[in-house]
Amino acid sequence: MKICNLTSGSDGNLTYIESVNAKILVDIGLSCLETEKRLGYLKVNPENIDAIFISHEHYDHMKGLNIFANKYKTKVFVHEDGYYPLLNKLKKTLNINTFNDKGFDFKDITVQTVGLPHDVKRCTGYSFIEQQKKVSIITDLGHTTKEILQNLKDSKLIFLESNHDIEMLLENENYPEMLKQRILGQNGHLSNNTCAEAVINLFKAGTKHFVLSHLSTKNNTPRLAYNFINQILINNGISVGEDVKIDVASVVPKAIYNLK
Ligand SMILES: [Zn+2]
Ligand SMILES: [Zn+2]
Repeated sequence: MKICNLTSGSDGNLTYIESVNAKILVDIGLSCLETEKRLGYLKVNPENIDAIFISHEHYDHMKGLNIFANKYKTKVFVHEDGYYPLLNKLKKTLNINTFNDKGFDFKDITVQTVGLPHDVKRCTGYSFIEQQKKVSIITDLGHTTKEILQNLKDSKLIFLESNHDIEMLLENENYPEMLKQRILGQNGHLSNNTCAEAVINLFKAGTKHFVLSHLSTKNNTPRLAYNFINQILINNGISVGEDVKIDVASVVPKAIYNLK
């Protein structure tokens, strides 16, 4: 399975995944034009995208959905509880398919899903498995739960939210108090601190590769997130580079991961 994050952050999220028989997108938080351009970097024809899996209806996850899925007649997948909230944001009639959390197969990919605590009716965390190789994408959640961590077990690679540095957020004069409380709340976003805790738990459960994702451009920096999590791992006797690999996703594509 080949995975490339094409953009990540509060301004847009888009990930490309390719198995032997399927080409899919997870979220489409860039315009249709920009999505086409970024697929072009990978030499992927947008017409060949088989499906788009939507996590939730926030704009940074579905900005390009209307135009792209209408233009290419792409299948859209969303959890049944997120169907109406997404429908309210659609301007075009799209081919929408719903699912529950029982798991299902899409072509040669097994899809597992879990609900994430976020300020919407339903936000979905996804795991995709091809030939026992599992990648998980878990962003937009205020806290982790046992159920979420359990669902991520056996992932070879996890894209995990590391949204903000708590101090930077609290000191940000451009953010109203209510917004700060929303982000920091149980249904907001994972901070570098809560992300670090989750990384330790997931590392102990067997995952050795993480990509810090959905970083705020206003309340975090890639260096800050990386250094913070690196330090917490060191404090817990875990060596980054030797025991575990930590990458940081960005607003531009940085790496193509190949799970073999
Ligand atoms: Zn969101
Ligand atoms: Zn988001």
